[in-house]
Amino acid sequence: MPLHSRLHPLGTPIRLSASPWAIGDLKGRVGTIQEDRILQLCQENPDGISDTAIQKELPQCDAQLRVTTINKLLSTGKIDLMKSGSKLIYKAKGVDVSSNLKLGDTQEKLVYQIIKEAGNKGIWIRDIRYKCNLLLTQVNKILKNLESRKLIKAVKSVAASKKKVYMLYDLEPDRSVTGGAWYSDQDFESEFVEVLNQQCLKYLEQKATISRDSKSDPIAQRNGSFAPLEDVWKYISELGISKVQLSKEDIETILDTLIYDGKVERSIVAGAGRSGDGQNKLYRSINPLVPPTGLMRMPCGACPVFDQCYEGGAVSPTNCVYMKDWLSM
Ligand code: SF4
Repeated sequence: MPLHSRLHPLGTPIRLSASPWAIGDLKGRVGTIQEDRILQLCQENPDGISDTAIQKELPQCDAQLRVTTINKLLSTGKIDLMKSGSKLIYKAKGVDVSSNLKLGDTQEKLVYQIIKEAGNKGIWIRDIRYKCNLLLTQVNKILKNLESRKLIKAVKSVAASKKKVYMLYDLEPDRSVTGGAWYSDQDFESEFVEVLNQQCLKYLEQKATISRDSKSDPIAQRNGSFAPLEDVWKYISELGISKVQLSKEDIETILDTLIYDGKVERSIVAGAGRSGDGQNKLYRSINPLVPPTGLMRMPCGACPVFDQCYEGGAVSPTNCVYMKDWLSM
């Protein structure tokens, strides 16, 4: 392939000259452009990027130039070569913040690094000890020291009220730690969930009433009573009843509970997804033809762990809270 035809896809047209010196200069520039691009690809993929992926992104860069450029980036310490499963991947070397933090001894650096690697899911003290192999008293001292310097913080996990996980000070804890919008200080906000439940249902009922009053044909009325997830989410967000920002997934969870209660039905339209996953979820309120009887509301019929439920197992009819509720109806 002539050199000039490889330059255009980079968006950097370079005027060719016949002199050998100019060709050398040109190759140098091409190398620099490829270097910047590969470095950028590594930075855009914090989990690492494989050689095949780089090749796909830079089809205009031949194998020799790619290898030379990657070797240069490795030798100058701008990227790292790592192993992920059976694959080799390249990762951009980030600025090592810990090197600027004036951390104390090696043990402190080690603990800091372990906590940093845990990300926003945090890490339990027992796992820190297991990873760093230090005594509990030493780990406790280091954690206290790091906490007092606001380098790390302890966050209570909703998974266990007495369990604290440690993460870097400026990280926003993951949903699995905080419990998301439904938890406040490890307490499940049942009243808040109930209000959201009512408001979502109210919106869908209003939509159904408007559609019914339009006096159009029954199919158009039915179609008109459906509302996409985005509309319900927007309605709830605009009501301003929540102090926390609710995501579409939060509202979907609420709508799911209404479906399980038999008050709402969902229809999934393929291909026209506003959510970007090729699916558009539509919801409408429904009036059951007959009120559900106690037997119809038996929880086992819609139980997702029905197959794993047996006496003596992790879930069983004896310890099932849903079964208890049903029996007390
Ligand atoms: S007893 Fe409870 S856990 Fe078991 S199948 Fe029924 S609802 Fe599910």
